[in-house]
Amino acid sequence: MAEQVKKVTIDYMGSLFSAFFDEKNGFYYCPLCGVGEDKPIFFSLDDLIGHIRIHVKRRMGVPRVAQPRQKQDTSE
Ligand SMILES: [Zn+2]
Repeated sequence: MAEQVKKVTIDYMGSLFSAFFDEKNGFYYCPLCGVGEDKPIFFSLDDLIGHIRIHVKRRMGVPRVAQPRQKQDTSE
């Protein structure tokens, strides 16, 4: 097993949740999917949070509201 993986607490907009962080390789594991070679890994907190939110939506069964992607104003 991955011994370099430690449990961390992430504060996302006031919501605390646990995740696993691989110190050696520098990526996160989803706390719901677990840790292992066949588990998804995330190289940024944004990616991890986006993934966890999918779990939450599934669990709660809340209809998803699609938000239009905002175009970035590049006025230079
Ligand atoms: Zn997951």
